[in-house]
Amino acid sequence: MTVYLSLGSNIRPRHHLGTALELLDAQDTIRLLGESPWYETRPWGGIVQANFLNLVCAVETSLPPLQLLEATQAIEQRLGRVRTLRNGPRTIDIDILLAGDTRLEMPALTIPHPGLLERDFMLVPLLDLAPDARLPGGERLIDKCAHLSHHQIIRKLTFGRNDNQEN
Ligand code: AMP
Repeated sequence: MTVYLSLGSNIRPRHHLGTALELLDAQDTIRLLGESPWYETRPWGGIVQANFLNLVCAVETSLPPLQLLEATQAIEQRLGRVRTLRNGPRTIDIDILLAGDTRLEMPALTIPHPGLLERDFMLVPLLDLAPDARLPGGERLIDKCAHLSHHQIIRKLTFGRNDNQEN
C-alpha cells in the first residue's frame, strides 16, 4: 500500500527531516518512494516559535495503519521529540495523511488526516509529489485547494536533502 506522510520540524529542521527520511527507509517494512520539495512554513497554533520546514513523502509499506503509526512514533521518539507544549517546537512530527483507500476513525488514528484539507503545508507538497492523488472514494485532492483555511507556507526551498547546508 502507498502511504503519504507529512514531516515537519522547527528544531535543526534540515538535520531532523533528513534523518527521519533515512530512518523510515531503513525499516524492513517501509520503503521510501519519493519526497516533495521542502517548504518553509509559519508555525500555527498561536505559540511564538521558529518557522518550520515541511515536506511530504510517499512510502510503500506492508504495515497496517496502526503499526505504521507505531513505527513513525518510534522514529519521533528516537529523534528526541518531547511532547511538552501542544503545537509547540519539535524535532520531528510525522503525520499519516493518506493510506491507499483506507478510511479510519479511531481515537489514536484518523485517516485521511483530519487536517489535510485545511492545511496548505500538507496539501501543497502532497500535490507536488502526487498531482493525481485522490481521497478514498475517488475525490481529487486538487479540487480541494480552494477550501484551505491554514495558509502557512512562506516559500518553497531551492535546496534538497543532499545539499550540504547547516541545520
Ligand atoms: P501530534 O501531536 O500532531 O503528533 O498528534 C498527536 C496524536 O495524534 C498522536 O498520538 C496520534 O495518536 C494522533 N493521530 C490521529 N490521527 C493521526 C494521523 N493521521 N497521523 C498521525 N497521528 C495521528
